[in-house]
Amino acid sequence: QIMLMQDFGSTILLCTPSYALNLAEVMEEEGIDPAALRLKCGLFGAEPWSESMRGEIEKKLKVSALDIYGLTEVIGPGVASECIEEKNGLHIFEDHFIAEIIDPSTGKVLPYGEAGELVFTTITKEAFPVIRYRTRDISRLTVSPCSCGRTHVRMDRISGRTDDMLIIRGVNVFPSQIESVLMTIEGVEPHYQLIISREGSLDLLEVQVEVGEAIFSDEIKGLETLARRIEHEIKDLLGVSSKVKLVEPKTIQRSEGKAKRVIDKRKL
Ligand SMILES: [Zn+2]
Repeated sequence: QIMLMQDFGSTILLCTPSYALNLAEVMEEEGIDPAALRLKCGLFGAEPWSESMRGEIEKKLKVSALDIYGLTEVIGPGVASECIEEKNGLHIFEDHFIAEIIDPSTGKVLPYGEAGELVFTTITKEAFPVIRYRTRDISRLTVSPCSCGRTHVRMDRISGRTDDMLIIRGVNVFPSQIESVLMTIEGVEPHYQLIISREGSLDLLEVQVEVGEAIFSDEIKGLETLARRIEHEIKDLLGVSSKVKLVEPKTIQRSEGKAKRVIDKRKL
């Protein structure tokens, strides 16, 4: 990717924010000065990111880093984007999409400024239009004037989701999908926990899962083989790499209510 940017004199970079940081790290390792590239601006999306990450990317890649939003079911990236002037909320392209914020529990439309679930209707999309499509993403809309002069409504950076979907390296993952993989494997118990962390700029997913007594007392080699097999199946089905750690029966904390399946240590 770096070679391509050098050869073509790319001026815009569009990727996930974590990948942008990854590129910056590789450039640093290889002694490439980002200022020597022609990059002016980067549009980053498809995973949650923070203001501090923006600062980091801008410093390391020497670009203006803008937030872009979209969803596969609508058109992919490009439903909304920040303007370079304000970098404060993403202008929704209202000539193509009608945006609403609803209360996720009642479905009632909420006034501008209130946080709720983002809903889209497409105006120009053919063959696969969506009507009042619920994104599960939590945001707010604002119609206050923007210094860039655009009058399109702005949405806040996504602050969370109404369901338990995780975004790991830009891939959408539901804990229930991992669970379904685990449950097809003999000897694996239905007690697991997903631990997500960030090393450098990359998300790491660790799956801790209990195995039966018989398997756990088996040789280390057998456990290793089983762990690699589960990693392989998760990758195959969900397209996300993970590290599987098999643990002794009854080591994963039991909860009295809803099981705590996910520990997200990423500071976003
Ligand atoms: Zn603007």
